[in-house]
Amino acid sequence: MMKAIMYHYVRKESAAYPYFKFLHIDDFKKQLDFFENEYSILHPNILHEKDAKRGVVLTFDDGVKDHIEFVLPELVKRNLSGIFYISTGMYAKQKLLDVHRLHILLGKFGGEFIYQEIKKFVNDDMLIDAHVEEFRKLTYTSQKNDEYTILVKRMMNYFISYHYREAAMDELMNRFIPDEKKLFDEFYLSKNEIKKIHDAGMIIGSHTANHKVMSKLSVAEQEKEINESFLFIDEIIGKQSSRTFCYPYGGFHTFTADTEKLLEQYNCSYSFNVEPRDIELHDLEHRRQVLPRYDCNLFPHGKTRVN
Ligand SMILES: [Zn+2]
Repeated sequence: MMKAIMYHYVRKESAAYPYFKFLHIDDFKKQLDFFENEYSILHPNILHEKDAKRGVVLTFDDGVKDHIEFVLPELVKRNLSGIFYISTGMYAKQKLLDVHRLHILLGKFGGEFIYQEIKKFVNDDMLIDAHVEEFRKLTYTSQKNDEYTILVKRMMNYFISYHYREAAMDELMNRFIPDEKKLFDEFYLSKNEIKKIHDAGMIIGSHTANHKVMSKLSVAEQEKEINESFLFIDEIIGKQSSRTFCYPYGGFHTFTADTEKLLEQYNCSYSFNVEPRDIELHDLEHRRQVLPRYDCNLFPHGKTRVN
């Protein structure tokens, strides 16, 4: 049946970010070869039909520069189309989203170093009550760099209250990556580039405004995230006849029944979760706002490299 595949960073190695995890462009090309040979790569508009064909749909999250520099040329060359899910809230602020600040800090300094730094100013009071115990347990189990990375991500993406997170990340960035504005321009697609990707026949979808875990937000806050991001996209590429969305981080714990309802209200034709299984007819007929999607690393050539 139909498989949706999720990609994030697709790039080449960089000496400045020795711990950065990414899919190498050469591996991306090999994986596209694999999908073209073993299945076929379908136009995303197939998802409007209630008919689960055999084939693969490609999706690219987070609106990073990689998508115009490496992904778009490759898709155009192969006459393929994919869905590009962008967050939008950072353009007004001209500050990187916290999720990406974390990737950059971890990519530059590694998990253990960043973990030790964060520990200096994140305390129990800043954590969501329900996570304090979990946080303590985890604190003493990690040893390897990779495990520290997982811990840092959990702490900053899930455990910490949003009330404290931005200030904590501001602090880290000021200390270790002072020229954030320059990095911003290098890191994200510009509005023009988003338009260019759309004009090349790709689908642009919403990945919220600020890439927060939707289930951590009130319904009103969730609605704001959805509404603002669609308004931003409409402004760049014009109002489209259909809309699509994908949940930040993904997984059933990252959204609620209210999120699904809101997406219906905002005329979303379909939305993606992260769940490693095929899209079945049943999903398209009955639960269009929670379509399953595989991480690319579950298929040949899809493993991330670290420089
Ligand atoms: Zn994302």
